[in-house]
Amino acid sequence: MAKVEFKNIKKSFDDVEVVKHFDFIVEDGEFVVFLGPSGCGKSTTLRMLAGLESITSGEIYVGGKLMNKIDAKDRDLAMVFQSYALYPHMTVYENIAFALKLKGMKKPDIDREVRAAAKMLELDPLLDRKPKELSGGQRQRVAMGRAMVRTPKVFLFDEPLSNLDAKLRGTMREEIKQLHRELKTTTIYVTHDQIEAMTLADRIVILKDGYVAQVGTPTDVFQRPANKFVAQFIGNPSMNMLDAKMVDENGEFFIEIGETRIPLPERFKAHASKNVALHLGIRPTDIHLRAELVDHDRVFPLPVKIKDKELLGASILLKTEIAGQPLMVETQATEVAADEVTLYLDLDSLHLFDALSENSLAN
Ligand code: ADP
Ligand code: MG
Repeated sequence: MAKVEFKNIKKSFDDVEVVKHFDFIVEDGEFVVFLGPSGCGKSTTLRMLAGLESITSGEIYVGGKLMNKIDAKDRDLAMVFQSYALYPHMTVYENIAFALKLKGMKKPDIDREVRAAAKMLELDPLLDRKPKELSGGQRQRVAMGRAMVRTPKVFLFDEPLSNLDAKLRGTMREEIKQLHRELKTTTIYVTHDQIEAMTLADRIVILKDGYVAQVGTPTDVFQRPANKFVAQFIGNPSMNMLDAKMVDENGEFFIEIGETRIPLPERFKAHASKNVALHLGIRPTDIHLRAELVDHDRVFPLPVKIKDKELLGASILLKTEIAGQPLMVETQATEVAADEVTLYLDLDSLHLFDALSENSLAN
């Protein structure tokens, strides 16, 4: 097990800088997820750590040892890819045993290691099969088994579940989590899927265009997004984001959206200044159809017309508008008969972002 340190890492392909400044420490035994949209530099960052991509500038340390000039095969890291990359002509057993054989491990030792990993991943009945005789989930487990037997310092996963269907993704997520609980190996997991990040991570690093947008626990990034990008990237359905303005009426501050004026909640008062352009964020689940559904009295009533409804299963999504801007409400009440309703905005769950910097006013 080992701590992983990225020190001012940059990466360019030709003239294009795709990782702009990456400074981050993964603690020993920690499970960190790199999360971000496609093309933001997640795989490139992981591949620099694995030694599969050169580092343009900066340093990477694993367990205190500088990795920059060390060959990929000597870094003692195990990587699991989206494509699994199994050897098609080898059986499950041979696939898992391969790296140990290369290391020159003795046959009985190899056998013990392979069987222990297979047992943990419930692959024991499949050891004689070839990859083509396996389902996607089983192949993914073989790829994980192959990584596990090497008892690496660090596990690296690059979108390992992206080729699986939704149900299997859920199961495999649980298995990866269980594996980390048992082995406690430092793990870096790359994904564009916020659900994977939220369910697996001790800490999430949210990346955007080669920058770190926020680092935090799943609760941090969900409840206290540092900027507009994170606010809208995390959470499904996405957070409502409304153009607004801070106004001052005889020394009292309000957030103005068209004709509507919401009193500025106490916690933003340190940032009060008039005529500042803002984005007001509120999650669809923080808007209610009855004031009693909020367990405090800091609610704001807002009459609206319902434009459309979408059944999500256990809840419905109401599509409304405020000052011509879309506002979505997720409610458990599956029967909403009226076309005109009063919504209650939970003011404790309101987010404000400066329209210019897009940073949260609360941070
Ligand atoms: P992610 O994994 O977050 O989807 P990548 O790290 O794969 O993103 O890619 C980041 C950016 O770098 C993308 O714009 C991609 O097109 C570019 N890129 C990745 N690999 C190469 C390469 N070998 N040559 C040139 N550009 C690359
Ligand atoms: Mg990628």
